[in-house]
Amino acid sequence: MLNPALLTALGNILPAAAILTAAEDTRPYECDGLTLFREQPGAVLLPENEAQVVAIMKLCHAARMPVIARGAGTGLSGGARPDRNGVILSLAKFQRILAIDPQARTATVQPGVRNLAISQAVAPYGLHYAPDPSSQLACTIGGNVAENSGGVHCMKYGLTVHNLRRVRAVLMNGEVIELGGGALDSPGYDLLAVMCGSEGLLGIVTEVTVKLTPTAEDAKCVLAAFDDVSKASAAVAAIIAAGIVPSGLEMMDRLTIAAVEPFVHAGYPGDAEAILLCESDGVAAEVAAEVQIVRGLMEASGASLVDVSTSDEQLARFWSGRKAAFGAAGRISPAYYCMDGTIPRRALAPVLKRIAELSAEFGLPCMNVFHAGDGNLHPLILYDPNRSGDAEKTQAFGAKVLELCIEVGGTITGEHGVGVEKLREMCIQFEKPELERFHGVKHAFDPEGLLNPGKAVPTLHRCAEMGRMHVHRGALPHPDLPRF
Ligand SMILES: Cc1cc2nc3c(=O)[nH]c(=O)nc-3n(C[C@H](O)[C@H](O)[C@H](O)COP(=O)(O)OP(=O)(O)OC[C@H]3O[C@@H](n4cnc5c(N)ncnc54)[C@H](O)[C@@H]3O)c2cc1C
Repeated sequence: MLNPALLTALGNILPAAAILTAAEDTRPYECDGLTLFREQPGAVLLPENEAQVVAIMKLCHAARMPVIARGAGTGLSGGARPDRNGVILSLAKFQRILAIDPQARTATVQPGVRNLAISQAVAPYGLHYAPDPSSQLACTIGGNVAENSGGVHCMKYGLTVHNLRRVRAVLMNGEVIELGGGALDSPGYDLLAVMCGSEGLLGIVTEVTVKLTPTAEDAKCVLAAFDDVSKASAAVAAIIAAGIVPSGLEMMDRLTIAAVEPFVHAGYPGDAEAILLCESDGVAAEVAAEVQIVRGLMEASGASLVDVSTSDEQLARFWSGRKAAFGAAGRISPAYYCMDGTIPRRALAPVLKRIAELSAEFGLPCMNVFHAGDGNLHPLILYDPNRSGDAEKTQAFGAKVLELCIEVGGTITGEHGVGVEKLREMCIQFEKPELERFHGVKHAFDPEGLLNPGKAVPTLHRCAEMGRMHVHRGALPHPDLPRF
């Protein structure tokens, strides 16, 4: 609960209905898509314009009050989890598309605009916004920028960072900055890229200009079934080695197929150990040629079935299962924990085998549905939060998966961010010099450490406790840096 003087001051900035303090009103904000970690915020604020955001930030800065930005709350690493001593700043009311420039192929939007809404708004110009997280119906562009989100089509068209032109943001002290611009390059350090993926730790994004992509004339998807995951992994390697850049290359394992097929009837073969979906897009002749090569590579890798979409409806049906996989997990299990790690493609088969062994060791089923072309894994660990010990086992299983990713030369996140979920693994992935530079960047934007504290970058102290940092005679390096 906030102190009365601060509440009164907030009441001079926002109407009463835009300040939520009652437990029943703040409860929906207690977690994001990572439901394992929950906390009640002191208050939830719902501004509707940048001037209000500036005034709130100045007030919170003066009161040393932590601020946590929130878009749609679909994040999967706990990035928008509240701080009990702070406020949630929801950007849900920032829903306007401000400008569409078909010539420059850009759109300028407010941060609360949903990812899919951008593509829908620009469709009449034959354009779309390429990064397409599976949550695109709900997640906001502000959240996408903060997480540097990806999606099925990012293999060919890049992540959020590759599709951004300009961002306007309010800093913790209320200053407004604009990063990037109309040109492909801009002078000075690339702070636009720094802001992208900063998980709400550097500024509140209030306006975003995105790059738009012409919608391809044609797209076809090859669906291939395999009786062995390692054959499917070999097919992925063969496609990449052939120099093909598919617009999507995704894998689903047996448990995922069994969960999605009764849900969306995508037409997946029920007896497969793994299926691959490989999409080609472009002009019709180019697509036809690429599909032929992909078909041949799938067959040569031992596919037991290869099917090619012949209509837009069939293309959408093939993808419907992939897009609905997380929802399907929710149908067969009371809860799931979605992991996100990236590995070199050559390690796909052994890593999937090890995940299956871990699943047996922990006694928790695990669905694998992921961006195979990027080596970006999404093991979904199925658990029951009401069963004693399940939540702890789930977290331990997840931690093993992330360590495995590092072991094989990969990284602990591909697109979901670090949030509160992967702080421990950050201490394993990075050494002191890198962590110090991360803290230096944070310090440059938010010296008091009030924006989304305790997320994304572990304190040097925390890593020291884990034995990863050298503490000389009890003294930590950089004693001036905030330690959460
Ligand atoms: C079913 C499902 C499928 C998903 N599929 C994908 C996928 O394919 N690819 C992928 O990358 N992710 C995926 N996600 C994760 C999630 O949707 C993305 O991380 C998304 O970008 C979060 O957007 P959001 O609006 O919900 O942000 P939130 O969850 O509200 O916030 C996420 C982070 O962004 C910060 N933030 C939000 N808005 C702002 C702002 N305006 N300024 C500064 N910081 C801000 C928050 O503080 C927090 O740290 C999926 C999630 C679900 C539930």
